Amino acid sequence: MLARESKNKRINDKVFSVVAKAKSAAEKYGEDKVINATIGSLHDEDGTIVTLDSVMKAYRGLSLGEIVNYAPSITGTEEYKESVKRVVLGEKYRENFENHFMEVIATPGGSGAISNSIKNYLNKGEKILLPDLMWEPYKLMAEEAGGGYETYKLFNEEGNFNLENFRQGVFSLIEVQETLMIMINDPCQNPTGYKLSIEEWKGILDILKSASEKKGIILLNDIAYIDFDDRTEEEMEEYRSLFKDLPENLLTIFQFSISKSFTSYGLRVGAQLALSTSRKVIEDFTRASSYSCRASWSNVSRGGMKMFSDIVLNEKKFNSLKKERMEYVKLLKERAEIFLTEAKTVGLKTYNYVSGFFITIPVERDIEKVVEELEKNHIYTVVLENAIRIAVCSVPKMKIHGMAERIKSITASI
Ligand code: PLP
Repeated sequence: MLARESKNKRINDKVFSVVAKAKSAAEKYGEDKVINATIGSLHDEDGTIVTLDSVMKAYRGLSLGEIVNYAPSITGTEEYKESVKRVVLGEKYRENFENHFMEVIATPGGSGAISNSIKNYLNKGEKILLPDLMWEPYKLMAEEAGGGYETYKLFNEEGNFNLENFRQGVFSLIEVQETLMIMINDPCQNPTGYKLSIEEWKGILDILKSASEKKGIILLNDIAYIDFDDRTEEEMEEYRSLFKDLPENLLTIFQFSISKSFTSYGLRVGAQLALSTSRKVIEDFTRASSYSCRASWSNVSRGGMKMFSDIVLNEKKFNSLKKERMEYVKLLKERAEIFLTEAKTVGLKTYNYVSGFFITIPVERDIEKVVEELEKNHIYTVVLENAIRIAVCSVPKMKIHGMAERIKSITASI
C-alpha cells in the first residue's frame, strides 16, 4: 500500500534498542551498576533531566490561551523572529548586518529547520555534502527529499578539520550538480564535540566563495548546541562577522533550536534564519519555506515561541537564563575533562573534543565485538560506523570516573 518512494523507508533503530537494553540492565542490576551514555539530553548529577528555572517560570507564566491556541502566523510571530535574529546574529544585528537581507521561519525544532531547508534547496537526485561523522538524521532528510549525500572526512591526520578533503568534496560535486548544499554543525559538533577555529571557518568560507562563482551554494549552519560553547561576546562577534558580505550566490541558513539552549526538547521550537546579500535570494527563501510550513506542520507551538521571546526580549530574564545555563556549561566541561584526562592517561584515543554534549571514540577493529563486551560490562553507548559516542551530557561525574580505563581495557582485549 505504501507509495513507491516510501516502500523502503526504515529508521535504523540501533539507538533505540541500546537505550532499551540500558534501561532493562538498570532495572535488573541497579542504576548504580549501569552506565547509560546514550541519552542526548542534559541531565543533572542526580540523573534527572535538567530544567532551567528561568525557562519554567516564563512558560508557567503564560496564559492558557497562549499555550493552546494556534500561532497567529504560519512562519512565526514577529517577536519570535526578532528574538531569533538577536540570539543568532547578536543584539546589534541591524547595524552589523546593514545592507544584508534576512528572514526567519519558525519550525518544529532544529529538525524542522533542517528538513525545511533540505526540502527546498536539494534538487532531486543531487547530493548534500556531509561530514563522515555526523548527526545521522541529516541522511534521512536528504533521502526523504529525493536526494542523497556525499561525505568528506571531518578530521585530518592532526585531528583538525580536514579542509583539503572538504575542498575536494565541494569541487567534485559542483562539477556535476546544479547547486550544492553543505552542512556544518558547529560548535559542539555532534558526535565529536569539535569546534572549528575562526581560521578553519575562514578556510571553509573561502572554498565556498570560490565555488559560488560557478554554482549556487547553500551553507546550512546547524547551531543546535551553540550555547554550550563558552565563547566570550567578542569571540561571538568575530564568529558572526564571518557571515557578513558573502557573495549573492552563497546563501547561509542558520538552523536554530531551543531544544538544547533552553532545555526544551519537547516544545519543538526552532527556526531557519536565512542571511544573504541578495534581496531576491531571501524573497525566494521566504516564499518557498512558508509554503512548506503550510504543507507540512502549518505552524509551531505558540506557547514555546512566546516563552522564548518573553525571555530574550527582557534583559533581566535573559541574563538570569544565561547565568543558570553557564553552570551547566561548566558541568559539561568538568565531565569532559575527567573523561579526557583519564583517556589520555590510559592511552584511549578520542576524536578532538572541545565542547558540547558528546565525546566520540574511534573503534578501529571489530566494533560489534567491542560493543558486545562494553554492554556485558554494563556500558551503553551510541554505536556509529567505526566509533562509539559517549553522552557526557547525561552521565554524572561519579560514573565518568574510571570509564575511560574500562573502555580501554575492553577494546584492548579484542
Ligand atoms: N542538530 C543536531 C546536531 C542535533 O543533535 C539535534 C538533536 O539532537 C538537532 C539538530 C535537532 O534537534 P531538535 O529537533 O530537537 O531541535
